Amino acid sequence: MEVPLMDPWGFEASRARATLDSLGLASTLSVGLTGDSDVSQSAEQAERGEKLLNQALDQAFRLGSTHLVGNLFSALKRYSAPAPRDGRLRSQEILDRLATRAGQEGVTVALEVVNRYETNVFNTLRDAAAFTRETGNPNLKIHIDSFHMNIEEPDLYQPVLDVADAVGYVHVSENTRGYLSSGGVDFAQFFLALLAIKYDGPVTFETFSASNLSEDFASLLAVWRSFYDDTDDLATHAAQFIRQSLDQAAASAQV
Ligand code: MN
Repeated sequence: MEVPLMDPWGFEASRARATLDSLGLASTLSVGLTGDSDVSQSAEQAERGEKLLNQALDQAFRLGSTHLVGNLFSALKRYSAPAPRDGRLRSQEILDRLATRAGQEGVTVALEVVNRYETNVFNTLRDAAAFTRETGNPNLKIHIDSFHMNIEEPDLYQPVLDVADAVGYVHVSENTRGYLSSGGVDFAQFFLALLAIKYDGPVTFETFSASNLSEDFASLLAVWRSFYDDTDDLATHAAQFIRQSLDQAAASAQV
């Protein structure tokens, strides 16, 4: 289960860990930066951002998470210009340090490749892989998401193969952000690609609906519509769909 860290300082990791343990669930932790803590901008913002990221990593250690993922390299927002060169470099230096610290406790750091309306640092798998590779840090990976790929990539297969060794985390999400297979994302190709690169990390269903988001978060992600009310049914469907899709990909790869 992916735990979204909405309040890095207030989150009670030990309580959450006890709940996860009682359910036999492993966890990953996701976090995002705001304008105030944007590591791709000024030195002052970057300093606040590095503190926040280290706090998030401490929470990942306490929670026993295997991965720290999400928008860790810039704020999640619509920018009006490309990322400045010195800001990009600052972001890389901070994430290099973070990934080294994470690696000492066996936690993988993966940067989510999001679309052009949510960051200006990179929007394609190839550019994200270049960003992580330039740091030379083997524990700094990319986090791919079918929703964002559906906006930015030519297809959902070849771009994954092109960055095979850089992939460290996966979000499965429909273009509506609702029920998987209710929209236009080519999941058959996406799962074939995961199989082709022998990806063996977490595959997480990500969903958003106005019916169950706080106003702030809904506004940040521009989620205005509701796609479901029954979250148990949604989750059950997603788990079945992902398992089925992986089985189908494996079967078709053998033909
Ligand atoms: Mn995502």
